[in-house]
Amino acid sequence: MKTAKSYLMAAQSAYIACHIMPDGDAVGSMLALGLALHQQGKRCTLTCADPIPAKFDFLAGVQQVVSRPPAGEEVIVTVDVSDVQRLGSLYDETVFHSRPVINIDHHITNTRFGTVNVVQQLPSTSEIVHALLLRLGTPLDKDIASALLTGLLTDTRCFRTGNVTARQLRTATALMDAGASLTELTELIFNREPPSTICLWGQALSSVQTRGQIIWTEIDHAMMRRCNASPNDADGLVSFLASTMGVDAAVIFREKDDGRIEVSMRAGPGRDVSGVAMQLGGGGHPRAAGCTIADEMSAVRERVLRSVETALATQAAVGAEQ
Ligand code: 5GP
Ligand code: MN
Repeated sequence: MKTAKSYLMAAQSAYIACHIMPDGDAVGSMLALGLALHQQGKRCTLTCADPIPAKFDFLAGVQQVVSRPPAGEEVIVTVDVSDVQRLGSLYDETVFHSRPVINIDHHITNTRFGTVNVVQQLPSTSEIVHALLLRLGTPLDKDIASALLTGLLTDTRCFRTGNVTARQLRTATALMDAGASLTELTELIFNREPPSTICLWGQALSSVQTRGQIIWTEIDHAMMRRCNASPNDADGLVSFLASTMGVDAAVIFREKDDGRIEVSMRAGPGRDVSGVAMQLGGGGHPRAAGCTIADEMSAVRERVLRSVETALATQAAVGAEQ
């Protein structure tokens, strides 16, 4: 973190990028860092290869986010990005090798592609950005604190994930003291689902299936069309499925516009699906991971369910030995 701080202090301009299909942690950590560096008189380009979901329109600075590869910026910062594929069209190997890259992330599967890697296994990237801003001596205003609390709330599903400790509650308190409203943010993030989300969940839930301790369902093009849904409408559904009593893992297979299948996985306590995701070219966290596979739905389904079954059986055997 010390080296990251030196690079940021020295630079007059920064290119800050988050991952494709951005979530609240990606957007929140990017905006918070951008607002803070801007306060220090630095020019910041905030970027994402995909559009920022409309549900985050309330965050300050979101209108400034563009989608273009780095140009003249002195330093590149990536937030919540576990590997360069997650940058989508923003990644340009030549440019990324021509200047310092600060990789700020919390994924266990991070490939440490940066010149400096600030990778810590915390529940959210926003907490790492918070610690960095404290180090930089940047005062947290309401906008910065709200962006960071949005990230923390999103990735912990409002402090409900198994990795939450008193530390996250302390960080949340600090952010609230700096002006972020927990009431407003939980309302905006969790209690305002568009009708297309409810429609899509209805479609997907009506065809849920189980295989052993795995619960799974599929979302195809027809369902997306019927609900006039966007990819973000499926967010949260896999965690909901994983909350089924007696289940060890949940999987959702979603047909993307380009025909590839997006696989979202969640694991129960003591279980780990990050290895399966990594094996299949993706990544994530032990209990929340994913990948994207170019194949027929039925082939992807068989491959993934078999891999998850094997991983769970191995983990159960290891658990029993311990
Ligand atoms: P979700 O299921 O919510 O889309 O993703 C859960 C976790 O898995 C997130 O932390 C996300 O970064 C990671 N993840 C999902 N899809 C991919 C993927 O295709 N590649 C990588 N590296 N990580 C993924
Ligand atoms: Mn995250």
